[in-house]
Amino acid sequence: MYRKTAFIFTCVFTTSLAAGVPPSEDLRLYDIAQQSSAKRIKADIEKLVGFGTRHSLSETESGSQGIGAARRWIRDQFEAISEACGNCLEVMMIGDTIDGERRIPDPTEIISVIAIQRGIHDPNRMVMMSGDIDSRISDPLNFTDTSPGANDNASGMAGVIEAARLLTQYQFSGSVVYAALAGEEQGLWGGKIVAAHAIENGWNIDAVLNNDMIGNIAGINGVIDNHSARIFSEGVRAAETKEDAALRYKTGGEVDSASRNLARYVKKTGEQYVSNLDLMMIYRLDRFGRGGHHRPFNEAGFPAIRIMEVNEHYDRQHQDLRNEDGRHFGDTIDFVDFDFAAKLTALNAVSLAALAWAPAPPSDVSIKGMVYHSTTLSWAPGSDANLAGYRIYWRSTTSPEWTNSRYVGNVSTFTLQNIVIDNYFFGVASVATNGNESPVVFPGPAGAF
Ligand SMILES: [Zn+2]
Repeated sequence: MYRKTAFIFTCVFTTSLAAGVPPSEDLRLYDIAQQSSAKRIKADIEKLVGFGTRHSLSETESGSQGIGAARRWIRDQFEAISEACGNCLEVMMIGDTIDGERRIPDPTEIISVIAIQRGIHDPNRMVMMSGDIDSRISDPLNFTDTSPGANDNASGMAGVIEAARLLTQYQFSGSVVYAALAGEEQGLWGGKIVAAHAIENGWNIDAVLNNDMIGNIAGINGVIDNHSARIFSEGVRAAETKEDAALRYKTGGEVDSASRNLARYVKKTGEQYVSNLDLMMIYRLDRFGRGGHHRPFNEAGFPAIRIMEVNEHYDRQHQDLRNEDGRHFGDTIDFVDFDFAAKLTALNAVSLAALAWAPAPPSDVSIKGMVYHSTTLSWAPGSDANLAGYRIYWRSTTSPEWTNSRYVGNVSTFTLQNIVIDNYFFGVASVATNGNESPVVFPGPAGAF
């Protein structure tokens, strides 16, 4: 009798430990991915192209043409989406007057449109999806001629609006921010202004997913590919101090900035939940010598990545509309693949949802194990309402992505027995009771979120 009781007790104990490991998938993310609509994205790109030009120096008074009409239409879309979810969005215009710059010679208002869907547990922790409002043709100062900017970047902008439609059907722990950034082609001004606003207002942005050209599947290299996309991310963080650099030089972290681990997170989440999508990690800030709106966020210290097509077509970027001996030039809507734009919008939506359903990434992550048989990671205990525990990750130093992990429960330090610190890179992620995880945080200032 006594032995039997003891046996039952052991069973219960074992079961409760197993039940404590959160699920490995969140089925809601499959639904979100499948709802992304090519039809709605097409309608929004058509509308944006219909403003004639969205050049930053263009007309602002007209109701139908120019940058002013374009940004007011985007604001109206966010307002309409908000109305449909019981006013779940805070919609705001964030801008400044820029003057005396190479591409903005005269005083010009650069106004971005931002919509915030507040989280229920941690409303100041934010994950952002961004696209650009503005367009350009061959001469960066030509603000009057037709400049459709259908792929660059009405596609990214339409993706942001569609993601807002999809995600406002749900409530999240953290906040989701939908950003229509202005003045990209004139020198990344909207991103700079919004990043500065975020710092001034203490916004805790853990992720910026910047989308710039997500609708072209036919490259100038002759490749046609509707199932791949690129994720660009900084290696060493732009905001690194001299002291942090000295520490990183000795202990590693040059391929483990928060932005890089955000990129790994988006790759893993996208390939899990979005069908027929292969994500190509590019270990570089951006295309060679070129720019995008994730950079000003990196420079302000926020984790930020660029998402885009793999095979660009340069005849259809920043070109006057024309035909030269049968060769088409210009960023017109007939070359946009709406299904592909919907697929990359789904990638953003599932990544934002997973991030916003997860607890905050662990903070104050440290590691020790020098001249020892085991490696110990420690971090500050989290206080998130939805926190289940933590998962430790490690990989070979030459592996581009995390290969090994184990759940360690709700503790703030853990020792991996007989795993020697010198031979691997390590990190830790927070795990929600619903299974969603934060990005992996590499120890020390090199990887901190
Ligand atoms: Zn461009």
